[in-house]
Amino acid sequence: MTFAPPDAARLAAPSVVTEIPGPRSRELHAERENAVSSGFGTVLPVFVDHAEGAVLVDVDGNRFIDLASGIAVTSVGAAHPRVAERIARQAARFTHTCFMVTEYESFVRVAEWLNARVPGEWDKRTALFSTGAEAVENAVKIARKHTGRPGVLVLDEAYHGRSLLTMAMTAKEHPYRSGFGPLPDDVVVRATNGNALRSGLDTETALAEVARVLEAHGPESFAALVVEPIQGEGGFNVPQPGFLAGLAGLARAHGIVFVVDEIQAGLGRTGRLFASEHDGAAGDLTLTAKALGGGMPISAVTGRSDIMDAVHTGGLGGTYAGNPVACEAALAVFDVLDDPETLQNVARIEQVVRERLDPLVDEIDVVADVRGRGAMLAIEFADADLSPLPELTSAISRACHSSGVLTLTTGTHGNVIRLLPPLIAEPELVARGVDILVAAIKEAAA
Ligand code: PMP
Repeated sequence: MTFAPPDAARLAAPSVVTEIPGPRSRELHAERENAVSSGFGTVLPVFVDHAEGAVLVDVDGNRFIDLASGIAVTSVGAAHPRVAERIARQAARFTHTCFMVTEYESFVRVAEWLNARVPGEWDKRTALFSTGAEAVENAVKIARKHTGRPGVLVLDEAYHGRSLLTMAMTAKEHPYRSGFGPLPDDVVVRATNGNALRSGLDTETALAEVARVLEAHGPESFAALVVEPIQGEGGFNVPQPGFLAGLAGLARAHGIVFVVDEIQAGLGRTGRLFASEHDGAAGDLTLTAKALGGGMPISAVTGRSDIMDAVHTGGLGGTYAGNPVACEAALAVFDVLDDPETLQNVARIEQVVRERLDPLVDEIDVVADVRGRGAMLAIEFADADLSPLPELTSAISRACHSSGVLTLTTGTHGNVIRLLPPLIAEPELVARGVDILVAAIKEAAA
């Protein structure tokens, strides 16, 4: 059984038995403050003891409905038996060789699975790395080697990581970029994302605007155009119909490598295996991470073999790239994703969330928008003139936490609550979590 069946114990969540955070979490948090850099923020400062499917249990015995999945990572739950079993078995065999030193089979099997399923009717190759930012950086390296060009075109509200190049590709100033400059901004150029709610541009006008930016900088200076099929940290911005396909066309017309960053939206999250399938906009290179390893750090660049093989031998790698324990975890995740029941469950999750959130747009003044796809859904809070309401948004999210529901905020203006439940979450459990969210919204809006 790859798909985790409903379980009475999990449905017992949420269960809040102490104040949040509870006494043991508070003690540990105080210790943390003396040990860990203050550069790390934490959304909900409770210490987790263990997970059961889509439920997180903290050290004080509180049970949280997980509508975050560790930011779209634990799509199969944070303790899927198959993932745990394959990790344990591999750890007992060997934990590491470095694929650049000696080989192991699981690296090849992960590459084959991705090559077979990533969109695009062409011969593909895959390179594995450890983090999302590393996949993005390597996609740019590969695109540069293939094209012999330096530039990278990205979109407004994009998020591609926290390393030096990906930080420059990321749009939001605070907290991601501020004080960390100088950034390699001279090679990164930004164009409109045609934000459906806020840009005021339709698809055609947005594409014309991107084309204008390309012309202004000289299209022959760009190695890559990098896009998210739904912008994650930017606020779950769903591209307008035709926009992604139009971007792919623009890139290809100028010999620019079209890179689709599926790190947050990919691997079943939106109800299709890859989010770009909704838009018929396959990447020349497609990036995956997060859900790929079921919690183990692993990422991938998958794409056209002529582009992937443009790199000289030895030009790609990394000590931990495609670590064998992480590869085994990925193979277990693939079993779950290949089970048709998983994507059917995502459709059920989408239905129970939409049923509850969609009516709020008409019912509650401060609800500006409900959007997203599959198990990647969000609600935006703003005044009638669309002025963002970040404080109200945080207050609603905190109220959910106090009631045992783990929600995250997101967005350029911090005024969006995003829902990223595990793909295997019982729809009844998600429904219960969203009912609590709706109650918190109504109370805050009153
Ligand atoms: N791209 C996207 C679309 C992401 O959402 C993220 C992480 N939030 C990254 C890249 C960076 O991944 P990582 O944090 O693993 O470096």
